[in-house]
Amino acid sequence: MIPDYHIHSRLCRHAVGEAREYVETALARGLGEIGFADHCPYPAGFDPRYRMLPEELSVYRRIVDDVRCGFPRMRIRYALEVDWVPGRMGDVFAKIAGEPFDYLIGSVHHTDEFPFDNPEIEDRWREEGLADRVWLRYMDLVLEMVSSGRFNIIGHFDIPKKFGYFPSDKSAVREKMSGILDVAGKNGTALEINTSGLRKPVKEIYPSLEILRMARESGVSITFGSDAHAPGDVGMDFDRALALARAAGYRDYVLFERGRASIYPLPA
Ligand SMILES: [Zn+2]
Ligand SMILES: [Zn+2]
Repeated sequence: MIPDYHIHSRLCRHAVGEAREYVETALARGLGEIGFADHCPYPAGFDPRYRMLPEELSVYRRIVDDVRCGFPRMRIRYALEVDWVPGRMGDVFAKIAGEPFDYLIGSVHHTDEFPFDNPEIEDRWREEGLADRVWLRYMDLVLEMVSSGRFNIIGHFDIPKKFGYFPSDKSAVREKMSGILDVAGKNGTALEINTSGLRKPVKEIYPSLEILRMARESGVSITFGSDAHAPGDVGMDFDRALALARAAGYRDYVLFERGRASIYPLPA
């Protein structure tokens, strides 16, 4: 089965289980490679409830090193899911500089208004006009993030749909998406097919088939991720993710080692 490149660890304070249990699930499901991509620590105590502390980065590295030693038959990548937050990225990149990451997933979980994917404040989505504002602002932030050229993979590209709220003007959002995908195609940022949306109210993979087709036309390569926050999530619904990739016309996917991309054919 295709590698799962989006696995969290208990260090982020909202995932459960030991790293070795995630690897055991991967082995049981026939995966030959996985990547831990836990939430990036932020300096200055920002958002500490949902992420490791800056001083825990060395603990994270040790957790990944330990499972690498414990499971020599599984290729295990060391990665991060980094939030794009304007004004803070200098600090964030300074903090992680020199870490031997295989890849960085860039994600947006906050607009300036609120952490829109947080289930504790899902109610706010019902506010008049909010869905339009969040979708449009979200796409502007993703464009900034992808244009920075600092990331290997775009995380859960259409995540504002998580609770089932869509923009009233889809064409404006689609236009922004298409601009982002053009930049990604040109600067070699891949797009992840993330199956966690199937476990959320929207019950859809991120991104949709329509967006994935646009991505392929823009020359954007793909990776696969379960966004596992529990051991049983690893490799979850990858048969459906694979079918979606094929339906969008993809024939191959990409893997990363120390930032270097290699292309592999999708399994038959
Ligand atoms: Zn998380
Ligand atoms: Zn995420």
